[in-house]
Amino acid sequence: MKVNGTLVNYYIHCKRQCWLHSNRINMENNSEEVKVGKAIHELKKEQGKKTEVAIDNIRIDKITKDYLIEIKKSDADIEAVRWQLLFYLKILKDKGIERRGKIEVIEKKKENNKIIYEELNEEIEKELKIIVKGIEELIDLPKPPNVIFENKCKKCAYYEYCYI
Ligand code: SF4
Repeated sequence: MKVNGTLVNYYIHCKRQCWLHSNRINMENNSEEVKVGKAIHELKKEQGKKTEVAIDNIRIDKITKDYLIEIKKSDADIEAVRWQLLFYLKILKDKGIERRGKIEVIEKKKENNKIIYEELNEEIEKELKIIVKGIEELIDLPKPPNVIFENKCKKCAYYEYCYI
């Protein structure tokens, strides 16, 4: 499997999740969290605001003349979302399309909504290279890393797979 934004997100969030997803063990559809995320996407589509763009093996929520925008339903693991967005910015840059990044967190409680801005720089591009290499090595392993037993597991789509 070619490295994509979802794998970058999972790699930062949980290396086991990254391995499971890349090896086609897909439990996402069972997760309540994922269903909520999909519902937000559908809602945006209905409101005519959604302009999902696909380039190569990546899917971008929205692209404007200044920004590449990722829409998320919570800031639960914003670090993973950050790197996912930065990965997309780099793919676009390599194609001659330079944008800044914007993460729009749309929560049920509107007062928790927030916007986070991101931008590529030399340091980040170096770090991205290391992450992509790390993912390539990880997903080639014959078996997944062990379960990590952390709080984040409770909301993970792979919870049943890892714990039961
Ligand atoms: S349940 Fe925990 S260990 Fe398993 S994939 Fe999810 S976050 Fe990783």
